[in-house]
Amino acid sequence: MFPEFTLHYARLPERFYLRFDPVPVSEPRLMAFNRPLAEALGFDLDGFDESRAAQWFSGNSVPEGAEPLAQAYAGHQFGHFNPRLGDGRAVLLGEVVDREGRLRDIQLKGAGMTPFSRGADGRAPLGPVLREYLVSEAMHRLGVPTTRALAAVTSGERVFRRVPEPGAVLTRVAASHLRVGTFQYFAARDDVEAVRTLADMAIERHYPGLLTTEPGAGERYLGLLEAVAARQAALVAKWMGLGFIHGVMNTDNCSIAGETIDYGPCAFMEDYSPTMVFSSIDEQGRYAYRNQPWIAQWNLARFAETLLPLLDDEQESAVAKATEAIKRYEPRYEAEWLAVMRAKLGLQREEKGDRELVEALLEAMQAGRADFTLTFRRLSEAVEEDAPALFDLFEASDGLAAWLPRWRQRLEREGTEAIGEIVVRMNAVNPLYIPRNHQVERAIAAAAEHDDFGPFETLREVLAEPLVEQPGREEHSRPAPPTERVLRTFCGT
Ligand code: AMP
Ligand code: MG
Repeated sequence: MFPEFTLHYARLPERFYLRFDPVPVSEPRLMAFNRPLAEALGFDLDGFDESRAAQWFSGNSVPEGAEPLAQAYAGHQFGHFNPRLGDGRAVLLGEVVDREGRLRDIQLKGAGMTPFSRGADGRAPLGPVLREYLVSEAMHRLGVPTTRALAAVTSGERVFRRVPEPGAVLTRVAASHLRVGTFQYFAARDDVEAVRTLADMAIERHYPGLLTTEPGAGERYLGLLEAVAARQAALVAKWMGLGFIHGVMNTDNCSIAGETIDYGPCAFMEDYSPTMVFSSIDEQGRYAYRNQPWIAQWNLARFAETLLPLLDDEQESAVAKATEAIKRYEPRYEAEWLAVMRAKLGLQREEKGDRELVEALLEAMQAGRADFTLTFRRLSEAVEEDAPALFDLFEASDGLAAWLPRWRQRLEREGTEAIGEIVVRMNAVNPLYIPRNHQVERAIAAAAEHDDFGPFETLREVLAEPLVEQPGREEHSRPAPPTERVLRTFCGT
């Protein structure tokens, strides 16, 4: 059933990881399986057998050709450097080549205590596993680069967090699990050769275009820094355009491939508030919505530091090159963000005043406590005239009323396009359905407390088509009723 493994990480020298077999669980049950993804990865699903799959996706049996390991990495957590984090509960089975010829990591998360567990239990509760499953797959459907969810298995065991919860294992698929923190682990040990090995692996896997640059002269590694910065800029711009708050943008959760990774206390905001923070552990608001672009830049600066010895033999000159590259992130991010927001407003051309136009709408949304997702979705109903459904989203709508004529004038300057085309274009980027926190919580509660996966399945279906109106599923498009508003999310790892 498993496609053939082509081991890459396991072939690196031993100091990059520790060989580690998943710790078996007592009673694995397959709760979710992502068939289309499995097919894309080259799984043979003829005669698919759930109980065998449960054995594999729990780690109870290791597929042929896999050499499970826990990766070493470090990381800045909330600004503080920890030189040794590593996979405390995740196990990389190995890499496979998918149907498009791309290398993909297959990893089990919640697979037991590894040498990196640092006193924690190595397990994952069902809630966070289902959350990551739903949100990562939704992000994929929304066109955001992300790790994917292949399977979720319950373990038949309890894990103890604030309260006892059912245990689970998530099978995660990633372009790679190379993180800024992976580079930091070796840089902190002055292991320049290891940093070079990682950089070469990252270039080969994620930025093969750089292979044509002259190696050794530093140009190739500066290219890597620029390329990673470009992907992070594009990624965070997409998050911002969806109201997504990652919640734990530590350097160990910052992917070199530019994917969204490690869904912990993440959430989509409802009423627009740029200072919004959900995570209960983020007391200072470090990872608030509006800080995300600048935290990504901060993480890139940490990445740049690890590459310094590769950029130039002269330290001063290496620092100058890295600094320039990190500075260039700012205009790059601004351009990505503006492109995302222009598309959300149905604009194709670029005009000088566009930034102000976007900001004026956001201000009106903030003043009116308007739902982020639905405001943009219903904007397409107001291309010609004021739409009551749009105004209904605003507690105070003066700002909106003043803004709409400005926007319509701007739309007119786009040229003579039929209104219908603008609407279609806007509805292709402004989702109707996002993983709303209260819906995710409901699905988790039903599964964890009543072993009822019905709401999870429904949510999965709804989120598979986030842009298309689904009759009978109106409830899933709406913000939480006041009694169910989620203001805090918990890491719950
Ligand atoms: P995260 O918050 O998931 O990004 O994890 C941060 C670090 O804590 C990583 O090194 C994880 O492997 C480790 N970690 C998180 N949860 C657990 C757990 N339940 N058992 C062992 N290690 C964990
Ligand atoms: Mg992490």
